[in-house]
Amino acid sequence: MTTLIKNATVVTDGVIENIDVLINEDVICYIGKEATDQQPKATHDINVVDATGCFLLPGVIDDHVHFRQPGLTQKADIATESRAAAAGGVTTYFDMPNTVPQTTSVDALMQKFDIARRESVVNYSFFFGATNDNIAQFSSLDPHIVPGIKLFMGSSTGNMLVDKKQTLDQIFATANMPIMTHCEDTAIINANMAEAKRLYGNDPDVTHHPEIRSREACVECSKVAVDMARRHGTQLHLAHISTREELNLLRPDDKNITTEAVIGHLMFNDRDYARIGTLIKVNPSIKTAEDQAELRKALADGRISVVATDHAPHLLSDKLGGAAKAASGMPSIQYSLLSMLELLDQGVISMERLVELMCHNPAKIFNVSKRGFIRKGYKADLVMVRKVEPWTVRADNVMSKCGWTPFEGHTFSWRVERTFCNGKTVFANGHIVDTNAAEAVRFRE
Ligand SMILES: [Zn+2]
Repeated sequence: MTTLIKNATVVTDGVIENIDVLINEDVICYIGKEATDQQPKATHDINVVDATGCFLLPGVIDDHVHFRQPGLTQKADIATESRAAAAGGVTTYFDMPNTVPQTTSVDALMQKFDIARRESVVNYSFFFGATNDNIAQFSSLDPHIVPGIKLFMGSSTGNMLVDKKQTLDQIFATANMPIMTHCEDTAIINANMAEAKRLYGNDPDVTHHPEIRSREACVECSKVAVDMARRHGTQLHLAHISTREELNLLRPDDKNITTEAVIGHLMFNDRDYARIGTLIKVNPSIKTAEDQAELRKALADGRISVVATDHAPHLLSDKLGGAAKAASGMPSIQYSLLSMLELLDQGVISMERLVELMCHNPAKIFNVSKRGFIRKGYKADLVMVRKVEPWTVRADNVMSKCGWTPFEGHTFSWRVERTFCNGKTVFANGHIVDTNAAEAVRFRE
């Protein structure tokens, strides 16, 4: 099938231009004026999409999600969360290994690919989780199907905590693909938690979460990761930077180190705990308004390389309690592009920079094959967005299985109008329309 997207304002490669995009099957075959002239024959078979008034962006690549399958499907699953992704303009996601079983063996990894092949609505891949004793398996990972190795460094998620100095050194020395780190120092967190419990009781109010999961815990651990990447020349991607200090750890010559900011830290700050409570309890914690402001500044000045979500749904019942008892993590993938468009309206970033942060840079960092740009010969992963009358998020908008969002009551001024995945419309006018478009992403080809 051939699809012609007419009159779109196309944003790619740092250029904004009013042009047509022609798609043949799953691939972009022409970009330019008067694309109809480029269509050789069978024009009767052409599906024309009028994109007048819309921006057409590359589909968002979210390099950090937790879709909870297998093993935690009461919270979320690949079918439901990939629908939320499509509705949010996300056409590719990389899922994290803290599922059950953990994705710390090649068998567990292949099991996830099998599920996604059947269930996923958008393109997918899966990080491999490092542990204290699975380094030998790195060499059996296919670098064409896996984005990288996820390392929970000094931070406990399940029992994937890697905190032995010697093991960390070995991981940084051995990794044959990017390492993505979650950096929070467990010893600091444990000491802070003990102190908070002494002061406030066994389950301190969530407003104490940033004192417990403190800035020092993040900064100290990120320093160790940066130091190891420098020593071993490892390609390091620092996940969910949450403090202004971490933004200043890198030097211009750290070409092998990149940084991720996530929606929670960009859109909320510690004053929001009073209003939203444990729904915005995430790890690392959401910190001060000053940290939030500096993170936003870093989007524009290049200290942040990628914007992702760390989409991590929980049941509302998991969110009961305070800083000790309530689960950490929140869903956000359906509203990540809309959030960044809000920052565009506020003058925080340009449209070109938004596309770099959400589409181009994740593709470059993980060396994704033929995605992340609107270019001839690339896969037709695209999202059409339109500026609209402000509208308010309600729980019944939410496609995530958990049925809630920290954005409930939030007003957005943009809409995702249509999402194309491999040339097929997967989402349009508020509905999922095709569930058979997804593919496993390829890397390093
Ligand atoms: Zn995460």
